[in-house]
This record gives sequence, structure tokens and C-alpha cells, in this order.
Amino acid sequence: MPSVLMLHRVLQEYDPDNYYFQRRTAISWGRFIQLLDKIEADGCETLPVSALGKASPQSVFITFDDGYADNFRAIKELLRRGMTATIFPVRNFSQQQFSAIDDMAANLMMSDAMPADLRASIINGRIKKIARRLSSERYRFLRAKLFGIAEDRLIEKLFLTEQQLSELVDSGIGLGIHGCSHRIFSSLPEDILEKELQESLDWLISLGISKQPAICFPHGAHDERTVEICSQYSKYLLGVDCKPVCKEVHRRIHVKEDT
Ligand SMILES: [Zn+2]
Repeated sequence: MPSVLMLHRVLQEYDPDNYYFQRRTAISWGRFIQLLDKIEADGCETLPVSALGKASPQSVFITFDDGYADNFRAIKELLRRGMTATIFPVRNFSQQQFSAIDDMAANLMMSDAMPADLRASIINGRIKKIARRLSSERYRFLRAKLFGIAEDRLIEKLFLTEQQLSELVDSGIGLGIHGCSHRIFSSLPEDILEKELQESLDWLISLGISKQPAICFPHGAHDERTVEICSQYSKYLLGVDCKPVCKEVHRRIHVKEDT
């Protein structure tokens, strides 16, 4: 089986107090360079996920989930080495520069006044389990009602813009479907899921993709029903680093700071 690697953020320095390192959705720049060096030293070839059917045991597929802005520098570095990768951006994150879970993380990291139990629920993923089913509008409503937080915390540009994504596509980087809203597919009724998939596909085409994109399940969640619907849109379905529920779904290797 070829290796399909799963990355999210690539941040300059390791920081044990940073939410993304605590949730293991970030690696440091040094760890990233170590990974690329290892791929080169092993004589492996990187391919976009759309070439999964042509993989050999020497093939490596580097994937970045959610389209964080810090990926831009990381991808420029792998392109410089003659490598390639696939990004799974989320349309609304890119267009609105907002995501509920990242807003919660920003509140956590920027506020000393946050109650300890809420802080713990964010770190251990309990809040994420709720937020991943909500639209941004619903999240903002509940955030104000339950926690009295009216304003968004995300001030910096957190996600790759459409212009950056198009530029990367022009450089040979692959894009895949990861939804428009990032809600878990298995929680969506069939018509809403189909709309989510079709609109994601239309968006990626508008950014310049030419090959049929792979699908990466938001939060890895899938079941027989969602796999059947997604199979009508792509032959390659990606999960996370645990045994997939369905045999059609490819497991990915979670690249962490300390492995
Ligand atoms: Zn994601």
C-alpha cells in the first residue's frame, strides 16, 4: 500500500501551549523539512491523490486538510524540491476566512478569562464534536447565547484565498473535495450532502482543476450511505488515521510533531 500522509497546519515553531499542537493538527517547520528530506532519502515519488490508481509502493501522497494559509509556504518548499501534494480546502473557510472551530481555538488562545471547564472541552475535542455539526451562523448564535462572546476572534487571514489556491493549481498542486461548510457528511440528509458535494466540485473547477477530484471526509466521519453517495462524485475517498468503516475508503497516516 502506498503512503497517504495527512497534514493540517505547518507552523514556524513548536509550542506546547498552542491549540493546534495540543490537538495534533500542526507540525513545526523543522518537522516538515525532516519529512520532505526523508521522502527524498527513501527515493519515493510524490503524486497528487488523483493518481492514487497508478500508485506503486514507492509512491507518497502528501495531503493538507482545510486549506490553512500557512500551507502556502510549505507547498512552495515542496514544489521547489520537485514534489507535489493535494490540498483539501473548504469553500466557506476560504471565502469567509472563518471557521467555527478555529474561532473557538482563537478564543482559547487569546483569552485568559475563559472558564477552566470550557477550556478543557475545547482541548479535548468535546466542543468540536458539537461545532462540526453547525453552520457558521448557528455557531455564532450559540456562542453569543451560551458564552456571551459576540465578536469573531479570527483577525488574521487564516485560510488560503481563492487566488492562492488557483496559483497552486497552476503549479501542479491537486485540490480535492472537503465540503463547503466542513460539517460531517454522515450528519447531512441526502439532498444537502449532494448539494455540498456538487457545490464543492463546482468551486474547485472554478479554481482551475482539470482532473476528477478525490473526496476527503470532513472529520473523517463516514458510513455506508455517505460512501455510496460520494462514490458518484469520485473514485477516491479518504478517511483519517483509523480503520475506515467502509473498504472503499483509504486510511491516511497522521503526520505528528513527534513521530
Ligand atoms: Zn477538515
